[in-house]
Amino acid sequence: MPDRATILHVDLDAFFAAVEQRDRPELRGRPVIVGGGGPNDRGVVSAASYEARAFGVRSAMPLRTAGALCPQGVFVPVDGAKYGRVSHDVMVILRRFTPRVEQISIDEAFLDVAGSEALFGTAEMIARRIKDAISGELDLTASVGVARTRLVAKIASELRKPDGLVVVPAGTEEAFLAPLPIFRLWGVGAKTRVVLAEYGVETIGELAALPEDLLRRRFGVHGPLLLARARGVDPTPVGDGEAAKSVSHEHTFDLDTNDWETIERTLLGLSEGVSGRLRRGGVKAGTIAIKLRDSDFVTITRQRTLDRPTDLTDRIWRVAVALARPEARGIHVRLIGVAASHLTEREQLSLFGGDDERLRRAVEAADRIRERFGPRAITRARLVRRRGQGPSVPEPFERDHLNAPEARRVGRPGPPSDEVG
Ligand SMILES: [Mg+2]
Repeated sequence: MPDRATILHVDLDAFFAAVEQRDRPELRGRPVIVGGGGPNDRGVVSAASYEARAFGVRSAMPLRTAGALCPQGVFVPVDGAKYGRVSHDVMVILRRFTPRVEQISIDEAFLDVAGSEALFGTAEMIARRIKDAISGELDLTASVGVARTRLVAKIASELRKPDGLVVVPAGTEEAFLAPLPIFRLWGVGAKTRVVLAEYGVETIGELAALPEDLLRRRFGVHGPLLLARARGVDPTPVGDGEAAKSVSHEHTFDLDTNDWETIERTLLGLSEGVSGRLRRGGVKAGTIAIKLRDSDFVTITRQRTLDRPTDLTDRIWRVAVALARPEARGIHVRLIGVAASHLTEREQLSLFGGDDERLRRAVEAADRIRERFGPRAITRARLVRRRGQGPSVPEPFERDHLNAPEARRVGRPGPPSDEVG
């Protein structure tokens, strides 16, 4: 571990809802629920403002439940293109302070400012400058955690939301983590919690005090890892390469599903979201990955390298379907994701075109129409919901963890998903 706390975790507060409240002053101070077409829609909540959270509304909750908990809620449709643009502006601000920025979701990134202190001051001062820039230039608030490891920085940023700043000085990680409830730790899902409860473990400190061989017996190789995490150890550096250079969308089903038609249609919506981001970014992907999480929170990922990089929905979707089909058999799918990585700058339009080029021009024309008239202006026939047949276009979630290192590991739940934003 480095000897100083130089890793920042920056996380925008209630991002989608905050952007809507910023752009529509009449929504300020009101319980805003972003997602779908309103309380009678079959979809789920993509994001909730803090005013709506006070009523118990949470991301990934069915919109109907949100409507019942918060009848005065203002339902706003998801505007993925707009959040994407604001996300880009946030990342531009972060990169002013260091090139070592690893974006892990639309509104979250890790930074390592070890090389920037001479220019901008201590990590804590840099955290304040970032918060000031985000609020001054974008009129949004972010919470920041500062620590020696990514693990501790992320837990720290979650503690004082909204508009928080929590610094964990080097050497105090164990004491900082000890009183926190065990669900705050990465890799501790519902099943792990049940087993730990048998040993009376409710806090991270109580986990840190368990003997390593006991944990190894109960959790296998995962045991010592849990122990290390409980002590704040996380050897993963802030990646400025691979992890930052991927684009992903994922969807949590309202009800876990084993209906292949629904899964296939959802993959199409996700592929469309991913390809749109690739095209806006002027890049193509060489690798496509899918993530499936079943009702027991077991997560698998599968990926394939393409013979030629692409930014087209159809190709991404076909690969995603081929990867998901054998894995989805016989399980109830809770969450599904599509990711594109190994990104390369798109070459100039080929002089002679070709089928791919003609298709791309059509797709780009459609992108421009969507930009002018909203994301639903052009929707593939396949994505249009047939009455009573499950969700239509899956909405992006504010929390998008396909890029998170935790989510890439197989068979393990990601960070806790409650009380975030
Ligand atoms: Mg957030």
